[in-house]
Amino acid sequence: LDQPPPDLSPEQIRPITEVIQPRFFSPSYWQLLERTAAYYYTPLVQVLRTALPPGLLQRSQRRICLRLPLPSQTIALSPKAQQLLTLLQASPTGDYSWRYIQQKIPRAQAPLAELLKQGLVNSYLRPPSPPQAKEQQAVILIQASGEQLTSRQQEILSYLQQSGGELWLQDFLQACQTSKATLNTLQQKGYVTITLRQKLRLEQGLATAAMIPKTLTSDQSQALGQINATTESQTFLLHGVTGSGKTEVYIQAIRPRLAEGQSALVLVPEIGLTPQMLDRFQAIFGEQVLVYHSALSEGERYDTWRQLLLEEPRLVIGTRSAIFLPLHNLGILVLDEEHDSGYKQEQPPPCYHARTLAQWRSELENCPLILGSATPSLATWQQRLEDKLTYLPLPQRIQARPLPPIEIVDLRDELHQGNRSMFSRTLFSALENLPTSSQALLFIHRRGHSTFVSCRSCGTALECPHCSVSLTYHWPDPQQAPVLRCHYCNFSRPQPQQCPSCQSPYLKPFGGGTQRAVQELNERLPDLKVIRFDSDTTQRKGSHRQLLEAFTRQEAQVMIGTQMLTKGMDIANVNLVGILTADGLLHFADFQAGERTFQTLTQVAGRAGRGDKPGRVILQTYTPEHPVIQAVQAYAYGDFAADELQQRQALNYPPYGQLLLIRLSSPDPQAVALAAQTVSTHCQQLNGLDSSEVDILGPAPAPILKVAQRYRWQILLKFNHRQSGQCPPFPLDVNALRQLCPGHVRLGLDVDPQNF
Ligand code: ADP
Ligand code: ZN
Ligand code: ZN
Repeated sequence: LDQPPPDLSPEQIRPITEVIQPRFFSPSYWQLLERTAAYYYTPLVQVLRTALPPGLLQRSQRRICLRLPLPSQTIALSPKAQQLLTLLQASPTGDYSWRYIQQKIPRAQAPLAELLKQGLVNSYLRPPSPPQAKEQQAVILIQASGEQLTSRQQEILSYLQQSGGELWLQDFLQACQTSKATLNTLQQKGYVTITLRQKLRLEQGLATAAMIPKTLTSDQSQALGQINATTESQTFLLHGVTGSGKTEVYIQAIRPRLAEGQSALVLVPEIGLTPQMLDRFQAIFGEQVLVYHSALSEGERYDTWRQLLLEEPRLVIGTRSAIFLPLHNLGILVLDEEHDSGYKQEQPPPCYHARTLAQWRSELENCPLILGSATPSLATWQQRLEDKLTYLPLPQRIQARPLPPIEIVDLRDELHQGNRSMFSRTLFSALENLPTSSQALLFIHRRGHSTFVSCRSCGTALECPHCSVSLTYHWPDPQQAPVLRCHYCNFSRPQPQQCPSCQSPYLKPFGGGTQRAVQELNERLPDLKVIRFDSDTTQRKGSHRQLLEAFTRQEAQVMIGTQMLTKGMDIANVNLVGILTADGLLHFADFQAGERTFQTLTQVAGRAGRGDKPGRVILQTYTPEHPVIQAVQAYAYGDFAADELQQRQALNYPPYGQLLLIRLSSPDPQAVALAAQTVSTHCQQLNGLDSSEVDILGPAPAPILKVAQRYRWQILLKFNHRQSGQCPPFPLDVNALRQLCPGHVRLGLDVDPQNF
């Protein structure tokens, strides 16, 4: 709480550690919460709200217990307080629930406060007892074959055997199209037994036929050997393209730890990626595997949480919030696709990054952490260069299937040839001649807002002279000329009439969307069936999956979409991938634009040629000579990273420097702009902030100025060095900053911001 509620006396307020810590969490878990609160400038109670499943605190019971041993000298107490103390002393366990106490002693609040103040009792929350699971009938295999069996009975037993020897009765009857009577007969003959089993509200994966561990390739065994040799805190970077066998390494690294009674946590960056992981892990580890993400119902999350309180080894697959699960005896952590921005929480606070927390957790629990990626984040790569982690490369795909070649098409040439379409002649002809048995994916980068201005003749994009990020095009008032603005430092300039590099008049805001591309294809190739896959067409619940399934069933030959196309899509028939323009990504107003471009384009390209037919990738751009585009074409991650890190270092951007974003918002556009100015001036004058160490950029309007009726401004603090290890990282008093603003202005801090 920032401010104590007026109706509470100081005695009624105690540090939350006194209330929760002793019974609820292990010390290392508690430290994780405290560090998160401090590092992200968030009240601890807010971190708890993020960490605990909804409903847990409500269902917890408040209990009062004696603080033993009681002091030998007598303490003067009021009669009511003495009465309460006597009641507790009479309890066989030295404690009672608060509800029971209130029944016995009316208005017990004041005497309790007195005893707490004297240090004679503790008040704490007890989590609900472990789950009272619903029981359901299950069929368990006893003997898989025998002489007197009919072929039908034999078939049923074989199915049960392949399913791991145990299935829910209902599922079994349905899957085998058989009757309860048939099973009863088998039970009487001693082949199966039908029994009651606990069933929790937990998501179950599809157990595929028993999966035997693979014989590892030599790269995989080397990686596994190094991981298995570690029992302490150590970070590994498992660097390999999709299909190089990373998941198999995770599985085999987890197996011995589970067997020894340790738990494991596997994080994926978005919910859509959990089912395939779940299926694969559950096929091997069965009921020890649980899943946790925000799309589960409240009840499911609650049950999962309570399962973890049972203190048995578990393997959890989850999205970023699962980093807060209280796993018992954690033995290993895995972050798959560690570079993905889905690991960063934007709202509500704490604005944590699951990778940062995973590293803390690995230290606190003294267990290894595996970061897996085909295109590691530059932050992680920098750790590798500084020898802070162990590098485990998987340079080849398992079946040695080659990565698809990437052809680059120069859109400037197209313009010079009079082709103003979104499709170059090369891409159009590839679509025109697409064999009917093949499919194509077309990728367009779009984020709905904030576009930049670039020259169609020479490819130049207009940048901020101070921050090296693209200027953003604004045209709020049709009566006035459009303006170009920097969202980091608020530099602005009118839109020029001509390209500053080549004087061409074709200097335009960058637009283009999925809708326009679909329309053009429909007009020019009416026989080609096209599915549009973007945030507009996938809004309805389930439509995301339906569209993907329709495409998998080959109901359409072409799918045109945005970033959503990039992940987890594995369709064997896709052997053409077209990137309509790489420039939308490349010139995004963000210091990480290069990094995101490399990651996204590499992922999109990887969608081609998954099956037997070789793939082909056509990448259209106005800047084919750009080093990032060149690196993408060559699949040269190392070169790209070296270049990009050099630029970051020159400008003190992360991972060399560190950023802190102050976000302000209010329904009042003038007031928030003014408050942002006040806060910025205050920061300039802070003693702790040495002006040679920090640049204070802005205030500037946020890239999307107005969201949900609130106008948003931001101030960027750019520190020349990482404040490594410091917690909180910077000497800032959030409450003091808030006090500079009127009540209707919200102020929040985002440490290591990603999207702004
Ligand atoms: P990644 O996680 O890097 O995408 P996977 O672990 O999913 O890679 O491996 C890709 C495919 O190759 C999977 O179908 C997997 O079962 C298979 N595979 C992985 N390792 C081996 C191996 N050593 N031998 C045979 N097949 C393997
Ligand atoms: Zn130009
Ligand atoms: Zn700027």
